[in-house]
Amino acid sequence: MMATKSRAWIELDRNNLAHNVSFFRQILPKNCRLMPAVKAEAYGHGAVLIARELQKLGITDFCVASAEEGIQLRKAGIKGQILILGYTHPQALEDVAVWQLTQTVVDSAYAKKLRGYGGVIQVHIGIDTGMHRLGESSDHITEILKICQQPNLIVTGVFSHLCVADSGKAEDEAFTRLQLARFDKLIESLRAAGMAKIKTHMLSSYGILNYPESNYDYARCGIALYGLMSSEHSRTGILPDLVPVLSLKARVTCIKQLKSGESAGYDFAYTADGNRVLAVLSIGYGDGVPRNIAKQGYALIHGKKAKIAGCICMDQMFVDVTDIREAAPGEEAILIGTSGKEIITAEMYAAWAGTITNEIVSRLGSRLERCVKEEAQVSKEKEGKKFHSNKIP
Ligand SMILES: *Cc1c(COP(=O)(O)O)cnc(C)c1O
Repeated sequence: MMATKSRAWIELDRNNLAHNVSFFRQILPKNCRLMPAVKAEAYGHGAVLIARELQKLGITDFCVASAEEGIQLRKAGIKGQILILGYTHPQALEDVAVWQLTQTVVDSAYAKKLRGYGGVIQVHIGIDTGMHRLGESSDHITEILKICQQPNLIVTGVFSHLCVADSGKAEDEAFTRLQLARFDKLIESLRAAGMAKIKTHMLSSYGILNYPESNYDYARCGIALYGLMSSEHSRTGILPDLVPVLSLKARVTCIKQLKSGESAGYDFAYTADGNRVLAVLSIGYGDGVPRNIAKQGYALIHGKKAKIAGCICMDQMFVDVTDIREAAPGEEAILIGTSGKEIITAEMYAAWAGTITNEIVSRLGSRLERCVKEEAQVSKEKEGKKFHSNKIP
């Protein structure tokens, strides 16, 4: 087995992904199928790798943000239903048909454009229950029925989206229940109008965790399926038994000895306040490490914390290894993940950067190699031994 030769890479833990999938299968009603959100490169994890793993776990439905993302999955051999949650330009509809993707009807004006496209496409109708982003208003039952009857559309589903499902505030809970009630009422009207078989879906991660009693055909879970909460402060009704799937790693490239008063980096951003040792790491903001974590952030080397020193550059960054004598060029530095007894979570990253984990992981760059950790490594790791990542074949 060959260790990765990458300068910076993402390692995926398939056992943790499987764990999270079975957690959601346990808490969701029996008839509800998971429709994982694998948009934005599966939240930075790598859409093809993640979709392949999910397919092995029996997942047959996926959602993406764009036609391009759907086509990428089809080209990689992903079968089943792939729903495009967002807008597709009318001139790109041929691709949607050819690759057998399912398009979202974003409102009735868009449905008219779809009529202009001659061919037949499969669609789910987006329903706006109060978020006011995409969807035809849930009050417009006549318009929605018209979309259902449009000859060139095969309408197989309707869906809506919650906007405050992660909040514990009483007024937000009330608003979420109002959204759910509006959607349920619409489903009833559709069924009464003869759309008996239409599939329904509304819940994403926080909807599932906070409103598990809701019962729809699919659940579109994203962030939580990757074992992440949006922030350390997110509220969940069910205590989620989830484990992170992603680790982010880079290499120590150089070790620099600085005398007191010497500086490192652009604009002398770091100045040594005594004799210090810095390690240069082969990862930077061009790979998605936010520049604004420099003050609070650290990496892990040999199971110890190495504080970020000075500014993060586009392709490189500095960390202080004065107290990690054994640090040497070529070795692994953990940016997100575990090393010995230490852990850096994506939630910590998000807190340092003043954002949510969704943004941190979805911005991880295309230069990063993405690989699935092999079983041998997983067991070695469990034994507490040092391991190296392997490229998937
Ligand atoms: C991104 C997205 C999801 C997944 O949301 P998470 O909060 O990550 O689970 C579900 N539905 C829609 C419409 C989305 O845009």
